[in-house]
Amino acid sequence: MKSAEIVCIMICLFLLLSGSAALAAETPAPEQVGLTVSVPTSSPEPTPSPTPEPTPTAEPADKWEALKMQYAADDTVQELIFVQYRGGSTAHLELWQKDAESEGGWKELLSCRAHVGMNGIDKQREGDKRTPTGDFGVLTAFGIKGDPGTALPYFKVTRDMYCCADEECYNKIVRKSEMHHKCTGEHLIDFKPCYNYCMFIDYNAECTYGKGSAIFVHCYGSKKYTGGCVAVTEKNMKTILTSVHPGVRVCIYQQ
Ligand SMILES: [Zn+2]
Repeated sequence: MKSAEIVCIMICLFLLLSGSAALAAETPAPEQVGLTVSVPTSSPEPTPSPTPEPTPTAEPADKWEALKMQYAADDTVQELIFVQYRGGSTAHLELWQKDAESEGGWKELLSCRAHVGMNGIDKQREGDKRTPTGDFGVLTAFGIKGDPGTALPYFKVTRDMYCCADEECYNKIVRKSEMHHKCTGEHLIDFKPCYNYCMFIDYNAECTYGKGSAIFVHCYGSKKYTGGCVAVTEKNMKTILTSVHPGVRVCIYQQ
């Protein structure tokens, strides 16, 4: 082989090697290849619209039906009072009674406007001017006026009765003459006409000091709100008292 041929072969080899090196440098790394492949450059098919979410079935609007279903199976409960909070200090009140003849097993005895706390519902503590939220029982009924003929236990308010706010008998209705303490709570007979007829609900029945006391369903006063109770007209209060039985539930929730 002539030296010129050797030089020519060497040059060709050099060109081949450098060419393949250049190619290798241009070859993307495997990750880059994968990325490039995964990103579609065009979308020939129209993007299908997402499947509509099924409508949730447990919205607050169904809470009331859920309560009716829950208590339909509970023989200790004959009536449900729904206090459907509508913002501000207003609510809608419904009284339902079990009735085998009626659709769903319940018939409506009363549907009316109601007032709740000045600051609405979701009571947390004494003095927050809120009505408690929840499903409550009734401890007793009472009033400045005499028993209207209720099936609930009922007492007529006397001058020495207080709903106590002292730590020692907090959230209990007491006779001051029997308790021998100063009693900073509500002097019941002073709350006319609100307490003409009342139901004492079992919010804070454990009597935790400061959690809230004297939560009643009572008659309207002169204001369009309460201090944390539920109020309806005296006529409606009388209808409630003469319709309900021990075991009645008072259910207070956002509408
Ligand atoms: Zn007291």
